[in-house]
Amino acid sequence: MSRLTRTDLSALPAYVPGAIVPGAIKLASNEVPYGPLPGVVEAVAEAIAGSHRYPDMGVVALREAIAARLGVDADRVATGCGSVALTEHLVKATCQEGDEVMFAWRSFEAYPIITAGAGARAVPVPNDAGHGHDLDAMAAAVSARTRLIFVCNPNNPTGTALTREQLDGFLDKVGPDVLVVLDEAYREFVDDPAVPDGVTTYGDRPNIAVLRTFSKAWGLAGLRLGYLVAAPEVAAAVRKVTTPFSSSGVAQAAGLAALAADDEMRRRVALVVAERARVAEALGKLLPDGVAVPPSQANFVWLPLGEQTAAFARACAEAGVIVRAFHPEGVRVTIGTPEENDTFLAAARSALA
Ligand SMILES: *Cc1c(COP(=O)(O)O)cnc(C)c1O
Repeated sequence: MSRLTRTDLSALPAYVPGAIVPGAIKLASNEVPYGPLPGVVEAVAEAIAGSHRYPDMGVVALREAIAARLGVDADRVATGCGSVALTEHLVKATCQEGDEVMFAWRSFEAYPIITAGAGARAVPVPNDAGHGHDLDAMAAAVSARTRLIFVCNPNNPTGTALTREQLDGFLDKVGPDVLVVLDEAYREFVDDPAVPDGVTTYGDRPNIAVLRTFSKAWGLAGLRLGYLVAAPEVAAAVRKVTTPFSSSGVAQAAGLAALAADDEMRRRVALVVAERARVAEALGKLLPDGVAVPPSQANFVWLPLGEQTAAFARACAEAGVIVRAFHPEGVRVTIGTPEENDTFLAAARSALA
């Protein structure tokens, strides 16, 4: 047994990325299928010309653009190398050895990994029968050691979303001394008005941080850029523990260009949202009795196939469609272009026949 690294890491699950299979249709990582937004490639090319220099470590222009868009002060914004890096910085900024990080389970697979990596204790709380957060059970599980709670809204991988009414009640029970992180990676795909925008709804609560990403609706997954909006002290603490220069100059330029193309972003999101309804309805007719697709507010759908999960994903792969299996719970399928979705539905039809 090597003494070079922490022995407790052997118990840690590894992050499983969506598979990349040349020639296959990839519906495994919740990307939007339409390429970078207009203007992004040009902005990246221009930024590359300056890539022998360090980027702006303060990320001033981009943070100001994000802040202006959201109507908040720039000192409330921190950026990271993907919002997944910010989840890690948030744990680092709130937890000492043995402190507790709570999250629903199943939810974003990075949460337990970054929690353990920071030496904090993970408190996973099983989802309710509808595959969404069980907020009563989560509130009941808060202890004197709880420092941070991730609330993934909409939830990855189940697509379920919490309403303002549900969240209000939960936040009142949790109280002001625990940081609640609303992970809104899929906010742009939400079309149910009962689901709150964390920034506008809870911006005045100092113990709420909202995480957003450029990887999904904004089409920049490959450049690694996310941000959080929080109270100035929390944002400052996160910036303090962030690896220096972790938002690259290319990512900063791409983020600015993407924000300038938000009409096109919205157009693409509308296509995805329309397809989401079509795919969910078609799947509903194919699934066995007793299995239903939970209503999704994200750019993917969840098929709670239980023990059939791995076999279903394998059958899809054989038909040239890569989906994301969480055996033995279910399969998450990203909404792609209409043609990609048709290919997936045909594969699903034969797999479930
Ligand atoms: C995809 C995703 C993220 C962020 O991804 P980054 O690419 O690191 O910005 C964060 N949270 C959830 C729930 C996600 O699904």
